[in-house]
Amino acid sequence: MRIYFADGEIAHIRPSGNADELRIYAVASSPERAERMVQLGVAEPAGILRRMEAATSEALQQEAIEDFLRRPRLVKLQGAVQHYDWGGRQFIAGLLGQPQPSAQPCAELWMGTHANGPSAALLDAAEVPLSGLIAAAPRQTLGETVAARYHGRLPYLFKILDARKMLSIQAHPTLVQAAAGFEREEAAAIELSAPTRNYKDRNHKPEVHVALTEFWMLHGFRPPAEIAATFAVVPELSALLPDFAVRLAGARDSSAQAGLLRQLYETAMTLPQAAIDEILNPLLARLEIGPPPSKDTADYWALRAARDFPLPGGHRDRGILSVYFLNLIRLEPGEATYQPAGTLHAYLEGVNVELMANSDNVLRGGLTPKRVDVPELLRILRFEGEAPRILSGREVSEVERVYSTPAAEFQLSRVRLAASHSFVRDPSAGPEIWIQLAGEARVQAGPQRLELGRGGIFFAPAGVGFTLTSGDEESVLFRAAVPMESSLGAEPK
Ligand SMILES: [Zn+2]
Repeated sequence: MRIYFADGEIAHIRPSGNADELRIYAVASSPERAERMVQLGVAEPAGILRRMEAATSEALQQEAIEDFLRRPRLVKLQGAVQHYDWGGRQFIAGLLGQPQPSAQPCAELWMGTHANGPSAALLDAAEVPLSGLIAAAPRQTLGETVAARYHGRLPYLFKILDARKMLSIQAHPTLVQAAAGFEREEAAAIELSAPTRNYKDRNHKPEVHVALTEFWMLHGFRPPAEIAATFAVVPELSALLPDFAVRLAGARDSSAQAGLLRQLYETAMTLPQAAIDEILNPLLARLEIGPPPSKDTADYWALRAARDFPLPGGHRDRGILSVYFLNLIRLEPGEATYQPAGTLHAYLEGVNVELMANSDNVLRGGLTPKRVDVPELLRILRFEGEAPRILSGREVSEVERVYSTPAAEFQLSRVRLAASHSFVRDPSAGPEIWIQLAGEARVQAGPQRLELGRGGIFFAPAGVGFTLTSGDEESVLFRAAVPMESSLGAEPK
């Protein structure tokens, strides 16, 4: 391309003959002016060439969106990888066809529209953020009902998660708590990115997840009688509330028991650091010299937490105490749990597929370098000690197993197809994201055909039916959907 200027000067841009780049040449009245023209052209990040590139890609994106509006169809997606420090280096890299172990930890693969990691929609003419496509075409992507109910936004966030190290102990707020908390922090002018900020958005974050490997986690307070029994065998802990067992015996009903649990947890979270060290130091010292505890005991995870989360000055993280208060679960592949608002939980180790309301609202209770806001955490926690519910899903057809929850925003299911078998999606379905975890498949939607390999992800707009057929081997896919028949905006219990 040649650009001629009125005074006879010329800028000439052409592809290099021996490298994958553009070259710019200038013809000017002096070498200094020529040099200046070239500099204006190639300056980073906002030189003329970069600005032309941005304008071109914006035009291409616009064109691609208009083309989608003319014929809504299935769209392949590229997920966004989060490289949090606790992530593994095998599973997600392998799923994406990248070398393993990966150079950086790959903790989560996000499929959705969250601002911290929006997926790219691979349209014919251009790559467009899925959030941009949905914003430009809410009815054609989400359908009338979902677009109206969720203000033109995809209501869920879909993830693959690979925990090599323990994650923080955490809980999520209700919709009412999140909205109030968000407004409060906005009014106090706390920056969204500030480390002291709790509420990143106005949404709640109920979540369901299905284990893909053996998966270890903490989930909800244990029944108080079990905690009392633990105090008997881990004597160091009884210093927290020496008369716990006696008071439990006198607690007449579930609300008295919840009050007692609250007092125990509040004590653990508010004692001065010196008192925490006085409890945990002898406990951990005893575990260190004893025989290695087995993985299905709280002792094992307490030791591991102490090694992974040392505090400066040799202090002990009080989150280690929670390992003894919470239900320790080992999920087999295909088993699931649901975390409603207010349930204290932590993922300890393993790979899962996870579906949640589109939110990033987390209140932490230790085992993290991030902020722990104890008063706010205590305000949102539920203190009902009970055995956790393990979900194994419900077969709704020969090939599909649905992991139902009370959440109105999402429904997770697994589709497993023997070689050369098909699954037909009804065109009345809402907006869905699919990921292929094993095998290969072909998806036919009218004249459109997609080929999916392992790790393939696609978005199915509301109203687009398709037939998915597995290849020569068994196919396993997970399907994120909006439950169409659920009550409007119901708050999960
Ligand atoms: Zn969570």
